[in-house]
Amino acid sequence: MVDALGDAISKALADSRVKAIVVGSAGRCFSAGADLGDISNRHDTLDRLRWLTTDIVESASKPIIMAIHGLALGGGLEFAMSGHYRVCSPNAEFALPEVKLGLLPGAGGTQRLPRLVGVNFALEMMLGGNPINADIAKAKGLIDLVAEHDLVEEAIAFASVCVERGVRPTRELRLIEGQPSGTDGVKADNASLTQAQSSIVRCVDAALVMPFPEAMAVEKTLFEQLRMSETSLGLRHSFFGRRTVGRIPGIQNRKSAPAIHSVAVIGAGLMGTGIATALINAGLKVTLIEPSAEIVERAIGKIQSTLKRDVKKGRISSEIASARLAMLTPTKGPASMADADLIIEAVFEDLDVKRRVFSDMEKYAKPSAILSTNTSTLDLDRIASFTRRPDRVAGLHFFSPANIMKLVEIVRGRETSDDTLISVMNFTKAIGKVGVISGVCDGFIGNRMFEEYLRQAYFLLEEGALPQQVDAALESFGMAMGPFRTMDLAGQDIGWSIRKRRAIEQPDRPYSKIPDLVCELGRFGQKTRAGFYLYPDGRNPQHDPVIDELVIGHSNGIGIARRKIEDAEIVERCIFALVNEGAKLLSEGIAHRAVDIDVVYVNGYGFPEERGGPMFYADRYGLKQVQRKIAEFQKGPNGWAWAPASLLVELATEGRGFGTVNATDE
Ligand code: NAD
Repeated sequence: MVDALGDAISKALADSRVKAIVVGSAGRCFSAGADLGDISNRHDTLDRLRWLTTDIVESASKPIIMAIHGLALGGGLEFAMSGHYRVCSPNAEFALPEVKLGLLPGAGGTQRLPRLVGVNFALEMMLGGNPINADIAKAKGLIDLVAEHDLVEEAIAFASVCVERGVRPTRELRLIEGQPSGTDGVKADNASLTQAQSSIVRCVDAALVMPFPEAMAVEKTLFEQLRMSETSLGLRHSFFGRRTVGRIPGIQNRKSAPAIHSVAVIGAGLMGTGIATALINAGLKVTLIEPSAEIVERAIGKIQSTLKRDVKKGRISSEIASARLAMLTPTKGPASMADADLIIEAVFEDLDVKRRVFSDMEKYAKPSAILSTNTSTLDLDRIASFTRRPDRVAGLHFFSPANIMKLVEIVRGRETSDDTLISVMNFTKAIGKVGVISGVCDGFIGNRMFEEYLRQAYFLLEEGALPQQVDAALESFGMAMGPFRTMDLAGQDIGWSIRKRRAIEQPDRPYSKIPDLVCELGRFGQKTRAGFYLYPDGRNPQHDPVIDELVIGHSNGIGIARRKIEDAEIVERCIFALVNEGAKLLSEGIAHRAVDIDVVYVNGYGFPEERGGPMFYADRYGLKQVQRKIAEFQKGPNGWAWAPASLLVELATEGRGFGTVNATDE
């Protein structure tokens, strides 16, 4: 397309009848930018874009006017900025979002934007990567004219004015050094900048002191460094991953999959309330079924206060908040689910209660309705067997708080039909969530892996670490929250009950006793203002020496000589526990691709996005190295937990990575 644009513009320039050129787009938007897949694989993509912008458009002998509607993002905006003038429609949006993928605008964006909008605002746009609207773009000088009626007509009318004015190459606009420069302010705070952000600042510095071609060379060199950086590779893996997971291996999207317009949520507890909020926020009609009037009232109060907060923060208007609330119909009786296309059950985690609710669904739901459960631990195939339509049953495992967390594990039962899967996958996309398919197993993808992560975190305490050290090590690795703070937030009692169950189901896979000892003190985390930490304000953790004593006392009690544990070991033990279990999930077919696991962890478990996800991280680390580490851990005091996954061994031996497993399905 870049070449074709170059040819078309050159042809128009060579035509003596042409006085000025208007470039517009017939598509949904002006341009959403370069194809990232192309940028990942071919380094000459940007060279072509540099050629188009600098050698063809900006150097043209006749005025070139860009007519912009919809989005002009990344390379699309860089192309637009190389034009001599810009006209846009009122709905246009502009951004250089490269920083979000650990990159910089590499086709002259760092050089042209400051010349059009000034250094300060250019830095704000490029360091944050967020879009601006047409009014702001006009006020800041990015746009010459906002069209009122017909973009192309008005751009053509404006072109005749431009013929009088002549060409205006952006590179020749004066970048006044003395203007209030944001670069110094930004530099002062340089320590907190990411690599991509500080590279952007360096490019703008170059724009201030170097001739244009030299500064462009700086931009190119820094772009190439970023393109190959681990951070950008990880961010791009996450970005593509979110798209990949929507493609269900072996199933083509098709029209027969029923669309979902109305939803019934059963149970107005923590999850039901969060799910209902997410749905009305996405513009869906929701019936919330809950027998207890008191709980319904509490749920509505919670939803109202969430909406109020959104209004207060300027995210939505009060009219929109009222319209959203009007989408919700609370009811007591199950008969009101009759109209729903999808029913989401979020009642107590108890198979008998679920059985009753699914029998109700069988009775009241329309025959085409899809029935789903938010269960975290129960067997989906058992639940599906309570109905006469197991093909139309799937798990929808939302994460708490469900109106905020992006991840939904879509659980595919033995009999779940392809159409059902497609419908719920499309539904998760429509409500702005990231759906990942998981097979049926205890804990699905996310929690089954997390259990091994926690097991290691607890053993580390026994062997010599303290909770605050484990949390700090994993947080500096990039986890949003360390394991002890996470469990304090989730409620230590939840883990306790799971461990009690596990002690019966899997007596050969014990945990450290330490978290049980903490629970025995009635310390369930934030909700009791004490867990592994103290929470005097109910929210912020404070170190508690009582826990240090408890941990050290336990090690002594069971005869373990505590040793100094390095932060690196903490990270490797916890993260490779995720990786090893992830490998097992892959070979069992619970997760179809490694990237599915990565997306679960980045979007549901606070795994650092710039590291791509646990499986991607392991691939970059090298599976041979991971295998060697696991062999070392096997020799440790709880080595039994480190039986290496056969897939990991196989891939390491073949010199392959997880990314190659089922990669053709992507
Ligand atoms: P909760 O106890 O807060 O809410 C359950 C609600 O269901 C209660 O309000 C109860 O009155 C209602 N209920 C019970 N029987 C009902 C019936 N027959 N009809 C209608 N409503 C009925 O529980 P929760 O934390 O919201 O969990 C609900 C489900 O979500 C469970 O299956 C749980 O495993 C799962 N889940 C929970 C979390 C979490 O973080 N809490 C996360 C993911 C999934």
